[in-house]
Order: sequence, then structure tokens, then C-alpha cells
Amino acid sequence: MQITPKLNNIETSIFSVMSALANAHDAINLSQGFPNFKSDQKLIDGVSRAMNSGYNQYAPMAGSLELRKAISKKFDILYNSSYHPETEITVTAGATQAIFTIISTFVKPNDEVIIFKPAYDCYEPAIKLNGGEPISIALEAPNYLIDWNLVEHSINNQTKMIIVNTPHNPTGTVMSEHDMLKLQELTNETDIIILSDEVYEHIIFDAEQHQSICKFQNLKERSFITASFGKTFHNTGWKIGYCCAPKDLMEAYRNVHQFNVFSVHHPSQKAFTDYLKDSSHYLNLPDFFQEKRDTFLSLIKDSRFKFTPSKGTYFQVLAYSDITTMNDVEFAKQLTTKNGIASIPLSVFYDNKQDHNVLRFCFAKTNETLKQAADILNRI
Ligand code: PMP
Ligand code: GLN
Repeated sequence: MQITPKLNNIETSIFSVMSALANAHDAINLSQGFPNFKSDQKLIDGVSRAMNSGYNQYAPMAGSLELRKAISKKFDILYNSSYHPETEITVTAGATQAIFTIISTFVKPNDEVIIFKPAYDCYEPAIKLNGGEPISIALEAPNYLIDWNLVEHSINNQTKMIIVNTPHNPTGTVMSEHDMLKLQELTNETDIIILSDEVYEHIIFDAEQHQSICKFQNLKERSFITASFGKTFHNTGWKIGYCCAPKDLMEAYRNVHQFNVFSVHHPSQKAFTDYLKDSSHYLNLPDFFQEKRDTFLSLIKDSRFKFTPSKGTYFQVLAYSDITTMNDVEFAKQLTTKNGIASIPLSVFYDNKQDHNVLRFCFAKTNETLKQAADILNRI
């Protein structure tokens, strides 16, 4: 029998690999990005209350309208931007499903999709499964800035989509207003769709402002935004997120979404609806996470790891070239098995496994865990 799957040579995601290694060696797990503290009890109670009061059957296909109204209000409060709850917002099974469905809705064989490497790992397989061709543009250490000349030269009439991600996983950089204006200028008067992965919109530090694509009217008209309540409210296991786009694009998206997932977990939607009524629940998040970043960085400031403080996301990249010349995958494994701390090597997110000798550490952890992690890092 010769059955050929559509996706070949796919390795197990580095997040699963490193988390499994951390578990097997009882290491502190700063690899896969998830908090080790509890989601707000109000949310947990909200889900169980919803289950007990009958929210147990299918939610509407596009998501609970009350939740979509609450999301629409959040856009208004944060970005003074409007998305119509009925026609322009859809609740999804996390950002991953939204991204997969957006790509499947639009990308056809031979379409090109520009992505920036290192890139979050779910973009490329979705493009390939739909017959599209990922066109990678590398972000170079240590600043990981987008080279707009390269973008300009990569755009042609086969370019169907550009995927951007700010704040950026895994580097912890953010796109500036200048970046957004360049993107706008280069795609102006084209039909190129922008997929803007904004799952870390609330995790941004210092004086940085999140440059949501919706703040740029000309981009907004051709863009999808994807977001994740899992990332935002410390419950990555619930897998609830949403996407927004102008009506025509969203109509096309829903044609696929309704057969891909139809609708998502109803009780959580009710809980998030109630929770979003208090805007402090998301307005306080940048400060909450900045305290985590600052704690972690001050604890390791005298270690032999070098860093530029992360500008956003709950990841910090640490450079280790003063410590060893080992490649990053081997070093990450050694740190996990011998030193008891797990991280993510960045080379796996590059096309040619480009190795800048840097590792990504997740600081969405209790201060006690951060202290234990720092004790290890300081001894290396
Ligand atoms: N995009 C990025 C950049 C991510 O880091 C993640 C992981 N949370 C996702 C998308 C997927 O989000 P979700 O867990 O909501 O599917
Ligand atoms: N987004 C998470 C990270 O970057 C991982 C999610 C996953 O395991 N797929 O670590």
C-alpha cells in the first residue's frame, strides 16, 4: 500500500518535544508558552456557572453574539476601531484554528504567502496544505527587524497574503508604527490579504504601544486579526480565541469555518462575555506581565546570559555565546537534562536552522518558579 499524506517530513513541534523532555527530567519548564499560575477564579466560576445554567449545546456558528459584542467594545476601547459584532467578528477554537481557517479560505495552489522567520510554527504547514508557497524573510539577531526592502522585492502578482505577528513570538520584538506604515505603503492598492497575529496584544512593555493592524485604515480593509483568550487570560487549555475582518472577508471565512469547526465551547464563551465587562481585566495585563519580565531579568542580570529586554510577549530571548559554542538545540536539551531548566531553541523556526546561539524562556510563571529558574541560570 502506498498512501501519500499531503504533509511530509513534519517533525513533532518543538513545544511538545521540550515540554516532554522537561517532564521526563523533572526540569523547570520555561519552554512551551503557558502560565503556571491559575486563571482568575471569577472565570473558572463563570464557566461552571454557565454549564450549570444550560450553556451546554452548540453556540451560534460565529460565536455567542453577546461575546462578539464584548469583543467589539474592546476594540473600541483599546484602538478606537470598530468591528461589527454580527458580521465582522467570529469566535474560534484558539488562534491556531482561526489561522488555519483564514489560510484555507484564501490560499490556493501556487499562491505565495510571505512570512517572517523565525515564525510561529503553525503558519507554514497551513500554507503548504493548501498548495501555497511560503516565502520566508529572515529576521536577523539581535534586533530581528523587518527588512522592508526584502519585502518589497518579494511581493509580486502571486503574493496572496502576508502574515505578521506583533508582539512577536519567539523573539519578543514588536512592530513599530513605521513598520505598519511601510506595510501599508507596500501593499496599498493591491489585493494582498494581511493576516495579523496579535495573540500577545496585551503583553507589551515599557513605553511600547501595540500597533494593531486595525489602527491603519487602509490595512484594516484587507486584514484579519487573530487573538487568543488562552494567551490573554491564562487558560491556554481552553482554546478559545477570535478573529476579525471586514464583512466581505469575514463572510468568506465563515463559509469555511462552519465546516471546519462549526462552533466552539459554549460555556467558556459565556464566562468570557461576563469577564470582558470589566475592562480592567485586560487593561491591567501589561503591568502584570511587565512585573514578571522585570523580576526575571533582575534575577539573572549577573548571569553569563546576555539579553535585550523583551518588548512584548511573555518570552525572553537569552544569548549564550559567552558560555558555549554548542548549537542551540543541543544546548537546550543539555540544560533540560543536566541543569533542570527547559527552554526553546530559536533555530528550529528558521528555514535553514540558522543558529544565533539564543534560547527562548517563558516568564509567565509564579515568582517562586522564576526564582528557582534564575538560581539555575546564574550557576551556568
Ligand atoms: N500565534 C502565536 C504567535 C502563538 O504564540 C500562539 C500560541 N499560543 C498561537 C498563535 C496560537 O494560539 P492559541 O493557543 O489560541 O491557538
Ligand atoms: N504558543 C506556545 C509557544 O509559543 C505553544 C503552543 C503550542 O504548544 N502549540 O510556546
